[in-house]
Amino acid sequence: MEKAKVFNIQKFSVHDGPGIRTTVFFKGCPLSCIWCHNPESQSFSREIMVDKEKCTLCGRCVAKCGNDAVSMKDGSLVNDYASCDFCGTCADFCVSNAREIVGEELTVAEIIKEIEKDRMFYDQSKGGVTFSGGEVMCQPGVLAELARRCRDKGIHVAVDTCGYVPFSSFEKVMDYVDLFLYDIKLMDSELHTEYTGKDSMLILDNLKKLSDLGANISLRLPIIGGINDDEANIGAILEFIKGTNIRDVNLLPYHDIARNKYSRLGREYRGSGMRVPEEEKMNEIKERFEKSGYKVKIGG
Ligand code: SF4
Ligand code: SF4
Repeated sequence: MEKAKVFNIQKFSVHDGPGIRTTVFFKGCPLSCIWCHNPESQSFSREIMVDKEKCTLCGRCVAKCGNDAVSMKDGSLVNDYASCDFCGTCADFCVSNAREIVGEELTVAEIIKEIEKDRMFYDQSKGGVTFSGGEVMCQPGVLAELARRCRDKGIHVAVDTCGYVPFSSFEKVMDYVDLFLYDIKLMDSELHTEYTGKDSMLILDNLKKLSDLGANISLRLPIIGGINDDEANIGAILEFIKGTNIRDVNLLPYHDIARNKYSRLGREYRGSGMRVPEEEKMNEIKERFEKSGYKVKIGG
């Protein structure tokens, strides 16, 4: 049986669909949005995160690493991310919890067991499970099996997706999904490519096809100040969704609290030109959607 590449299972989520939910975050994404607040979700491989602020420079990791992937130089810890094979030995010996391996492979049974633990809360709050990422639709086989088993147990299933996958992947899972949380970021294909690494055509085509097949879809729109909060983009999104069955819109204001995750992964943060959108701007966009008849919420 295929395993799922997962990097987190978050309990008591209240921003990933209705009610209280368990959110299962899959690892790996075809996009690389510069504003991504889960950069550890982007690679399909395991990774190591090192929090230099927690490090006490005890040197245990240097002594334990068999790959020379970490060393001390001039009183500082130097991580050679390219030499690391993510064995996790250093993390096991780091008493400061400064080192963390991100990503593991779990069976369907293991994930279902975790989901079922909070069954009582789903029932009381009309919640359920949300499969998110990364891009969970990149692992459609294992997702279909998970969603089918949840459906059989009467657990509400939401799938949070960027939509950049072959439509055949949606066809594999859609019979078992109660709600798609579907992201649109930028309508302009060139800008979409510049900021996410891929164009927007496939994403929009898939959204239209899903809608035409009657899927229950809630639109999620991350709002990044100075990048996609302009009239041209918002107007184009409104025009596009007119031709779909979407009625609910979630506006997700960008925040930069993930900045430090990039340095922990040994990566450069590319989002310096981005702004947290002003409250006034968020309310203005909310009103635009409401005037067109949509039910709008700021936040997840
Ligand atoms: S084991 Fe942890 S605390 Fe010690 S040097 Fe390595 S990262 Fe720092
Ligand atoms: S995960 Fe393994 S290879 Fe990587 S730094 Fe730690 S001990 Fe070395």
